[in-house]
Amino acid sequence: MPYDAIIIGGSYAGLSAAMQLARAGRSVCVVDSHTPRNRFAAASHGFFGQDGAAPRAMIAEARDKLAAYPTVHFVDGSAIHAHAVPDGFAIDLGQGDALTAAKLVLAFGVVDELPDLPGLAGKWGKSVLHCPYCHGHEFRGRRLGVLNVMEKSVHQALMIPDWGPTTFFLHGGAMPDAETQDKLRRRNVAIEPAKVVALEGTETELTGVRLEDGRVVELDAIFTGSRTRMASAIAEQLGCAFDEGMLGPVIRTDAMKMTTVPGVYAAGDIARQMHNATFASADGVMAGTALHQALIFEPLAA
Ligand SMILES: Cc1cc2nc3c(=O)[nH]c(=O)nc-3n(C[C@H](O)[C@H](O)[C@H](O)COP(=O)(O)OP(=O)(O)OC[C@H]3O[C@@H](n4cnc5c(N)ncnc54)[C@H](O)[C@@H]3O)c2cc1C
Repeated sequence: MPYDAIIIGGSYAGLSAAMQLARAGRSVCVVDSHTPRNRFAAASHGFFGQDGAAPRAMIAEARDKLAAYPTVHFVDGSAIHAHAVPDGFAIDLGQGDALTAAKLVLAFGVVDELPDLPGLAGKWGKSVLHCPYCHGHEFRGRRLGVLNVMEKSVHQALMIPDWGPTTFFLHGGAMPDAETQDKLRRRNVAIEPAKVVALEGTETELTGVRLEDGRVVELDAIFTGSRTRMASAIAEQLGCAFDEGMLGPVIRTDAMKMTTVPGVYAAGDIARQMHNATFASADGVMAGTALHQALIFEPLAA
């Protein structure tokens, strides 16, 4: 039997969308492959009422609460393909399994493409950090760095001194212009022009960065940007329009989180410029309520 909605991705955005639909008594199927973006961090910070909770524990709690609603179904696994069918959409789960629904919520998140440096990947989310609001407080007053990997890195370098003494590693990039250098000086940011060749320390803990000329600068944490890409090709398959965001492609949505394909909504990191769990959850609520109202009002208008 077709569902009212299929939600692809069962993390902050997807489960928040599903909750609104479940509470409206609509049939909803959440397909999830269980790889939330922040799974590399031991704790998630800043989410209302859940500050410091382990990411997977937060998501499991939300899923448990959702499972109490009788119209919700879960599928563990990946949605492979999606296409439009008369009266809705079909989702291919592989091995011949398929689901259909009147409408879709895409909430499959993004994947971080990390700078390619020896010693970096294992420290991601632990001592190599993407966001000071998420993890800066835990390193307050300690030796901090910012790795210059994108245009936005200088913005990060200007922010990080609020959390601790900061070195901006140009990483072989051009020296900032005089005005930017002045701003960095006013924020007490040290500039290190040499290229970084490796991160030192244990698998997860940073002790310093090794430079091309052999010097090691001692550090406790380093902030870096990452390019992001969609975790699934399904938005492309459906023909959704994209915009180029600060970190990577973003699915274009209206204020109700509907994509350019009628009946397909997108929520969370895939459909916004600024990323965190709270924004993702809020997007999910928007998408879920908008989708629900479309189920009511579109037939009335026909
Ligand atoms: C290291 C790190 C630490 C972070 N720490 C914080 C923090 O402390 N506080 C904070 O607010 N934010 C933090 N963030 C940001 C936060 O992780 C994201 O903003 C948030 O996870 C986005 O939620 P989402 O639901 O959009 O996507 P995700 O949480 O990434 O969830 C997407 C879900 O979709 C599933 N999926 C993907 N493809 C498919 C498919 N084809 N079929 C079925 N399922 C699929 C995935 O398995 C996953 O479960 C952190 C990010 C990183 C990288």
